[in-house]
Amino acid sequence: MKSLQEHLSEAAAFHGESCPGQVLGVRLARAGLRSIGIDDPLSDRWRKNIIVFVEIDRCAADAIMVVTGCRVGKRTLKLKDYGIMAATFVNLESGRAVRVVAREEARKLAPSYAPGASGKYEQQRLAYAVMPEEDLCSFEDVEVSLPPEEMPGPPFSRVKCQKCGEHVQDGREQSTGGAVLCRSCAQGGYFVRRGRG
Ligand SMILES: [Zn+2]
Ligand SMILES: [Zn+2]
Repeated sequence: MKSLQEHLSEAAAFHGESCPGQVLGVRLARAGLRSIGIDDPLSDRWRKNIIVFVEIDRCAADAIMVVTGCRVGKRTLKLKDYGIMAATFVNLESGRAVRVVAREEARKLAPSYAPGASGKYEQQRLAYAVMPEEDLCSFEDVEVSLPPEEMPGPPFSRVKCQKCGEHVQDGREQSTGGAVLCRSCAQGGYFVRRGRG
């Protein structure tokens, strides 16, 4: 495993700043990898054998991506936006899955780990780098379902939406009243169509 310092600078470079979320994300990712028995996530052995579920779409998600090497585009990083500062690390070789959650207490303890720092932001940024793991996060063993349509590799399936005609990959279609539809046709999407160009 690279040093904490290396991970912190790589994460800050990728994210564009060193912020409390980067530091926390780096620590969670290092703890998560270690808890599933992975020391060298970017090696050939592990590169394709780690999947991470990230539960927040904030700063820490970038750091977790950098440290684990997992990527949305490789299907090894799954964003489950629950708004919780947590991530689950899955070792595909052993099947072990551990969910790591940032402890609420860590926020309150930050000032005592960064006595010289002024302001909450700077206190947290410095404290999260040095705080012992037991104060920073908690761990739980979990089971994660990873069906074939969630796995890396070639597309699992590809079907045409019977309403809009767009193609849906990897089983994301829905069957509604006998019709096979994309999600936005089936249940309404994040956009409203205003005319095609
Ligand atoms: Zn940030
Ligand atoms: Zn559709």
